[in-house]
Amino acid sequence: MIKIENLSKSFGAHRVLEGIDAEIRQGEVVCLIGPSGSGKSTLLRCINGLERYDGGRITVDGVTVDARRKDVQNIRQRVAMVFQRFNLFPHRTALENVIEGPVHVKGESLAAATARGREILASVGLAEKMNHYPQQLSGGQQQRVAIARALAMEPEAILFDEPTSALDPELVGEVLSVMRTLAEKGMTMVIVTHEMDFARNVSDRVLFLEGGRIAEQGPSREVLTTPRNERMRDFLKRVT
Ligand code: ADP
Ligand code: MG
Repeated sequence: MIKIENLSKSFGAHRVLEGIDAEIRQGEVVCLIGPSGSGKSTLLRCINGLERYDGGRITVDGVTVDARRKDVQNIRQRVAMVFQRFNLFPHRTALENVIEGPVHVKGESLAAATARGREILASVGLAEKMNHYPQQLSGGQQQRVAIARALAMEPEAILFDEPTSALDPELVGEVLSVMRTLAEKGMTMVIVTHEMDFARNVSDRVLFLEGGRIAEQGPSREVLTTPRNERMRDFLKRVT
């Protein structure tokens, strides 16, 4: 579904991604791990056209992602993104946040979007919180609203950039549990995370990024249990 070929990206003279090759198949759950500054966020942002890349190519279902093109909106609808810091509209309720995209971007009727928005919020355990404003919700609840908002656009894939890193430890589980359910339903997901148990138990494959390159990749259980790359072994010791 998502194909990355020989991708490179620099900020000025600083090469941030180099020679990245990866494919994400439909229904696959891939965790992207690696030290801070290794290029994980930049890679996600390139995949859904939030950031330009300099060399190589990314395609989604065969369509080239090009952040400069006007139709990059299509890619962003098909490949949703969930951020570390939720990015909800503060003056809109949970439900209003969720129906914003369907109504204003997709042109759905308010009634249809509202009915579906309620269902989606219920599916992430927020049936009772639909009319709450973000500041009336815990971090875990806000992140679940953000996931519901992504789902409301009916994306083909969702990219998560450290979705639980801003949460108090006791709220991490409820967000991971929603993500696990999505994985079980067959959602295609690319997840930047430091939650190694989640990566091991839920994801199909792990990519380890180091200095802008993929230093190791493979089936999650295998790669996380017996990493061959020495840097990855060091990294795992630090985060687990
Ligand atoms: P990670 O998510 O793995 O921590 P990032 O993709 O955020 O890494 O960053 C990779 C490198 O690119 C870092 O050295 C960071 O400082 C740099 N970088 C990220 N965004 C920008 C930007 N907009 N301008 C300049 N440098 C950036
Ligand atoms: Mg990052």
